[in-house]
Amino acid sequence: MSSERVAAWSETELGVDGRILDVVRAPAGVLSARGDDVDPTAPEIVQLAADLVATMRVSPGCVGLAANQVGVGVRVFCVDVTEHPKTRTRHGTFVLCNAEVVESSRNEKAREGCMSVPDFTGDVKRASRLTVRGQLPGTGETVEFATDAFEARALQHEIDHTDGFLFLDRVAGAHAIYARQTYL
Ligand SMILES: [Zn+2]
Repeated sequence: MSSERVAAWSETELGVDGRILDVVRAPAGVLSARGDDVDPTAPEIVQLAADLVATMRVSPGCVGLAANQVGVGVRVFCVDVTEHPKTRTRHGTFVLCNAEVVESSRNEKAREGCMSVPDFTGDVKRASRLTVRGQLPGTGETVEFATDAFEARALQHEIDHTDGFLFLDRVAGAHAIYARQTYL
């Protein structure tokens, strides 16, 4: 298990400045295609990792962002659920490459949104206990760790992106999709 390593990770390790990128919206084709596996030590992947974190940081309420959401069809995403009230276990900010679910259990239904689907939210059933494996950008270390609650949900949402799925593909039906409220 590499829980402490992931928790200690931060984008300063990448050694490059992140750029803020435009977020692609559905139904852009790149969102529905499975991303390519990457070499996590490649300079362009290190830059992409920094860009994803930078773009997440400037987007209010954003707790995760996948590469295909900025138009790059590869299996990389960032997550940071630290500020979310439904978070229990948390690992701060991290980026995973080529991530996959190792183990999952205890399904729970909850409301989800997505920067690529800005007008809707939906009720999605996800495992609330999760073990994932992936690689850190830069060093390429393989990490495997367990999490729960909201961080588990965010990870499944992002891994879905890397596989070409949106939360809209996971809702039980049209009755489980809601118009996102607008706040003035
Ligand atoms: Zn999303």
